[in-house]
Amino acid sequence: PCAGAYQYPLLIKSLLLSGQRYAPQQQIVCGQSRYDYRQLNERIARLANVLTDAGIGPGDTVAVMDWDSHRYLEAYFAVPMIGAVLHHVNVRLSTDQIAYTMQHAEDRLVLVHDDFLPVVEALADQLPSVEGYIQLSDDAQVAGTSLKTLGEYEALLEAAGTHYDFPDFDENSVATTFYTTGTTGNPKGVFFSHRQLVLHTLNMATTLAAYEGVPLLRSEDVYMPMTPMFHVHAWGVPYVATMLGVKQVYPGRYEPNRLVKLYRDEGVTFSHGVPTVLQMVLNCDEARDTDLSRWKLLTGGAAPNEGLVRQMAERDIRVYTGYGMSETCPLLSLSYLRPEETELSVEQQVAMRMRTGMPIALVDLRLIDEEGQDVPADGVSVGEILVRTPWLTQGYCKEPEKGAELWSGGWLHTGDVASMQPDGVLQIRDRIKDVIKTGGEWISSLLLESLISQHPAVANVAVVGVPDERWDERPLALVVPVDGVSVDTDTLKQHLAQFVDTGQINKWAIPSEIRFVESIPMTSVGKINKKLIREQLTTQA
Ligand code: ADP
Repeated sequence: PCAGAYQYPLLIKSLLLSGQRYAPQQQIVCGQSRYDYRQLNERIARLANVLTDAGIGPGDTVAVMDWDSHRYLEAYFAVPMIGAVLHHVNVRLSTDQIAYTMQHAEDRLVLVHDDFLPVVEALADQLPSVEGYIQLSDDAQVAGTSLKTLGEYEALLEAAGTHYDFPDFDENSVATTFYTTGTTGNPKGVFFSHRQLVLHTLNMATTLAAYEGVPLLRSEDVYMPMTPMFHVHAWGVPYVATMLGVKQVYPGRYEPNRLVKLYRDEGVTFSHGVPTVLQMVLNCDEARDTDLSRWKLLTGGAAPNEGLVRQMAERDIRVYTGYGMSETCPLLSLSYLRPEETELSVEQQVAMRMRTGMPIALVDLRLIDEEGQDVPADGVSVGEILVRTPWLTQGYCKEPEKGAELWSGGWLHTGDVASMQPDGVLQIRDRIKDVIKTGGEWISSLLLESLISQHPAVANVAVVGVPDERWDERPLALVVPVDGVSVDTDTLKQHLAQFVDTGQINKWAIPSEIRFVESIPMTSVGKINKKLIREQLTTQA
């Protein structure tokens, strides 16, 4: 490079201005609050001033505990843009785990919504690194608190300057951190740099707009997340939406009927959520008589079940499956269709939407067997998914040994088992820890769930392996029947027998036991909690 040539750092601030230039009047909506992109930029500058005045500087960690809101969006930008680290606190963890993550991340300042004040008040003594709190209130009437607060968010913003000179710095500086949901042991901290988030955003924007004629998300769309903003950057979409100047609707706390009302009233066209949340939304009262065909949905975080995908297809909703995890920022693959596949029947398309999909650009992916050998891409052989992309966590915060395990051999080990078709389409079969080993056979809990979910009397289902003296493990299914519909074990076993006849499963895969339950335990982000189910079954046994 010639003297004076500038090495442009990839910083989150670079994602902010294009949206405002393209659509200065476009709105950001949350509850009573409604403002445009000009004001978004101004509010981000004000928040940066508030943070700086509070003594926050480069490398300090700022925690947010909020529902999905415009304030959270502002923090997504302002905190990293001053060089600080944004800690998305998973507010659905247990109180002990929340305390653990906040101590571990060494949070210095906490932005806390009124709803979480009781939790934080109870923990405050255990958080020596925290120097202050900023209160986030939805009402004009600010809740009383015993915490040492600097004030209420809106009042602080109002008093702050409207200009901030955001500095340039090393693009490899950490921008965000958060903790895995900790289904095993303590939650582990992952972290992402400015460079990683910028590359993820650019790539995701391209991917969401590029394929299948009707783009999933472009400037003319209206975006509403149905994933908590603490869950892997709300899958990275708030950054994409802001870069594109999209109208954004933040729903606060999730309540299915209200989500559908917002869809209708605000003209929402694009949302994302884990399958259980989409299922709740689709089946709520408000959804029954609403035309949902405008809604483009991205589901992920867990395998979609066939019942759900079919229901969406019947209601003319375009649904796509994405695959990723906390450690991967998250996006790794998407189930878009190739041009010739968009001509297929709805039924055939349902099957294709169920695939985990094709790795997106800049994602290198391998499958390896237990001996570490690559398995062939024949659609049948299975192996653990290893990945490399520019946006993977480079380890776990302060846990070098676990990080080394994650990155063994220079590839990130996902803990997911999958097969790859010759044409490059990936299909997750299960998580390594959820696979059921019975009599030397290997059974996918996901496949069984998907097959059982196709029975019309089944509202929800989870399958786990339970220890068995003779066979090592046997599958056991927990089934929530559809309201008011009665169903018994024999009916479901007969239903499964047809898939033995078609060769989709062998007869050993039919669960020894099917239990009918009112609900299935979920994790903090709404996924089936198989670890807890296994524990409960062991204590009951
Ligand atoms: P947790 O590990 O606590 O559930 P993550 O959100 O990181 O939190 O979960 C990532 C895991 O979710 C993946 O490793 C994978 O097992 C599962 N997953 C995510 N997307 C899909 C998908 N499209 N199909 C099947 N499983 C998925």
